[in-house]
Amino acid sequence: MEDKDIIGAVCLARAANRTSWLPAALYACNCYISTTDILNGVSLGPETIRLEVADQIACLNAWGGISKIQGRTQRIFVLGGVKGLSTQCTTHKSCTAACGCLVLLAIDDYMFHDKNPFGPWDTWMKELVFDKGKLCSHCRDHLDLELKKHLRKEWKSLGDIFGVADWSPQTKDSAEVAPEDENR
Ligand SMILES: [Zn+2]
Repeated sequence: MEDKDIIGAVCLARAANRTSWLPAALYACNCYISTTDILNGVSLGPETIRLEVADQIACLNAWGGISKIQGRTQRIFVLGGVKGLSTQCTTHKSCTAACGCLVLLAIDDYMFHDKNPFGPWDTWMKELVFDKGKLCSHCRDHLDLELKKHLRKEWKSLGDIFGVADWSPQTKDSAEVAPEDENR
């Protein structure tokens, strides 16, 4: 998806008076559009397509809320590195140490500073926790489940972050970040 399509989605939501679309559309702007283009707009043929001032402000103001999501995500890993993860774990000491190492890896990979707090986790978890990780299966599944539950909850907060009261998180996007297999 190109920058003009992402900004276009916000403009379409405004034109159609579908404010419930705005949090997801503005969130995409925050993830993929530079601050310069959020403020100045992007070319669409001979025209320039740009966000309304209110939407520009919503994007800029959202950084605090996005940063707090990242902080709460980091807390899950830090807590696992301090207290351990699954109560079913029989290798508590090594799993707790491994989770501590995951915190450092995530910091080194800027996982807690990514503009998109939801997007990169599936790939990162698969590569470092499922494929190469040193956690036992109980701790691995516990961490995976906690992260997905957390991201689903945080996705619901996008309405508050972007100042949209009628945000409905029951969208395709929310399903993508939070699969329904919570009980596995
Ligand atoms: Zn374990």
